Amino acid sequence: MTGIVVLGSTNMDLVAYVAHAPKRGETVTGREFRTIPGGKGANQAVAAARAARSGGDVAMIGAVGSDDFGVRLRQTLVSSGVDTEHLRTAEGPSGTAHIVVDHEGGNAIVVIPGANGTVTSLTPGDEARIAAADSLLLQLELPLTAVLDGAEAARRHGVRTVLTPAPAQPLPPELLAVTDLLVPNEHEAAILAGVADPHIAAEALLLQVPEVVITLGAAGCLYASRETEPFAVPAPRVRAVDTTAAGDTFVGALAVALGEGRPMQQALTWASTAAALCVQRHGASTSMPYRTEIDATETGAS
Ligand code: ADP
Repeated sequence: MTGIVVLGSTNMDLVAYVAHAPKRGETVTGREFRTIPGGKGANQAVAAARAARSGGDVAMIGAVGSDDFGVRLRQTLVSSGVDTEHLRTAEGPSGTAHIVVDHEGGNAIVVIPGANGTVTSLTPGDEARIAAADSLLLQLELPLTAVLDGAEAARRHGVRTVLTPAPAQPLPPELLAVTDLLVPNEHEAAILAGVADPHIAAEALLLQVPEVVITLGAAGCLYASRETEPFAVPAPRVRAVDTTAAGDTFVGALAVALGEGRPMQQALTWASTAAALCVQRHGASTSMPYRTEIDATETGAS
């Protein structure tokens, strides 16, 4: 086996669209309600499977609940071609994110980890699957013990670890010590480095990890490594309608391109094309592009 393993979360996003978010004690009537399969781990897995030559090259390790949401969360991954053999079904509720979106697009979110909280360590089978991969993609929506377990297993087997440090929080040095490529957005980079300027933040983060990509929304991304001079990659100029999962699409496509042996600059440009396609559509997994679209858009642009 080759390819990409994602060790991460699956959440059902329960989204209420309202004119104004209710204040404490207030009840408001909303406009619309949607249930959208998400979770940063699942989003990265779907993005990578769609960007890969064959979706079966992407496997997901994590857990869904034994409820109806769990069935749908698993189905969403399977229908994108993600291998779910190592996705457990934990007795109890799936992870949920309760999201209120107001008329200005602002949101307030409550995340309840549910089944994700049961993933505290890896099984021997999980480790064997990681060992057979090129890259392990990690985020911070599972218990840190599992994230650290996964990263250490990957390091033992010479598998590249790609960490998206979201939701933003200070990280234990042991985790950074086994991270090969750190991909924070601007906000996460500022929290980790303790400084807002992305160039200075990247330099500071290189003291802890060998390679960093800081994503900068519509401004593209900044790459820095211990080996080469830093460089920026601009984002394609597009009309963004919904930036949900832009970062996850970016990481999924980046891992695919690196796994195919493309040089970093080329891989980042391809990932930027994928993320720019994502922001022009609504939703999370619904907005992620397939490989053919990414290739066609990049060829059209050059
Ligand atoms: P996150 O979604 O994790 O907050 P960013 O907002 O930095 O991360 O976006 C990740 C990547 O998605 C960016 O580096 C860029 O390539 C792409 N992207 C985000 N917003 C836009 C936009 N408005 N136009 C074009 N590309 C975008």
